[in-house]
Amino acid sequence: MLIPQSDLTKALKPFIIAGPCSAESPQQLLQTAIEIKQNAACVQWFRAGVWKPRTRPSSFEGMGEQALVWLSEIKEKTGLKVCTEVVKPKHIELCLKHNIDALWIGARTSTNPILVQELANCIRDLGATNVPVMVKNPVNPDVNLWIGAMERLFNVGCEDIVAVHRGFSLMNSGKYRQSPLWSVPIELKRVMPSLSILCDPSHIAGKRDYIFEISQMAMNLSYDGLMIETHYDPETAQTDSRQQITPQQLAVLLNRLTVPSKENKTMSSVTAIREQIDRIDSEIIELLQRRMKHSEDLALIKRAENMSLYQPNRWKQLLEQHLAEAEQKGLSADFVKIIFEQIHEESIKVQSHSFQR
Ligand code: PEP
Ligand code: MN
Repeated sequence: MLIPQSDLTKALKPFIIAGPCSAESPQQLLQTAIEIKQNAACVQWFRAGVWKPRTRPSSFEGMGEQALVWLSEIKEKTGLKVCTEVVKPKHIELCLKHNIDALWIGARTSTNPILVQELANCIRDLGATNVPVMVKNPVNPDVNLWIGAMERLFNVGCEDIVAVHRGFSLMNSGKYRQSPLWSVPIELKRVMPSLSILCDPSHIAGKRDYIFEISQMAMNLSYDGLMIETHYDPETAQTDSRQQITPQQLAVLLNRLTVPSKENKTMSSVTAIREQIDRIDSEIIELLQRRMKHSEDLALIKRAENMSLYQPNRWKQLLEQHLAEAEQKGLSADFVKIIFEQIHEESIKVQSHSFQR
């Protein structure tokens, strides 16, 4: 099943959605929207959360239906299109009542197929399949769960579906609030090449300083656009204060972004470098095959000598050696560690098969 490119993202690349994490007051929304219009004229869409699914209770949970009235006023006063998050079918009904232009399904909801199906059925039953729906990645890095959520919308006839990459909750997400795990959206694009995909650098970053680098990475990977949390006074924001930027900062960020065009003059040097990369990749596979063959031979000796298959000291020493060498060669230690952990795990598996024979 292939989800076609969204109409939303066809017109402008990058397609930008800006606005606060939460709708807090009519004044907060209006001032933010006006400053966005004044500073970043390329922004045509405004976001604000009205029902906030909070991780912990007793946090600000959004202003509910009254904020939809404020959002529809923003539309009238500024001409910006407006979108918000829906969690329950009732939310969809209220959004349509207040002329909200697009909906999104949040990361905590897209993990739940029964809820997503209820939302999809509601869109169908209300005859709203023309309303664009953005689907954030589920909080856990499961590309099929993400695809499944979009398929449920597609199957009820939704005409405009957009994926939003907002990162994944891991116990240790590194420097960012959510781990981007770029390989997950890359796999999504491999399976569904025509699907439009936006990046939400704000929720990945968790901190405003990192928003630019994540946005640039998204542009480098040919994402269709960005959803960036923007507040006229981020310090006073009731939610996600540290990751929101001002409309002025948004304008600076958008100006700094390099948006690569699909084709350009340097294609012949690209082809030449790609040939080298292809050759190196084949060599890597060949080396891996040879390495695993040695593991098998080693397993036979270990079995004959009644030696334990896993030798923690040897592994510790090997890894330290590899990391030191990687550092010397200017490679990222995290990257080299992950690769060798995988190789070691596979080697143990191969040896363990030889033990069972
Ligand atoms: C949001 O966009 O404010 C939000 C809650 O996002 P997510 O579902 O990605 O956490
Ligand atoms: Mn937020």
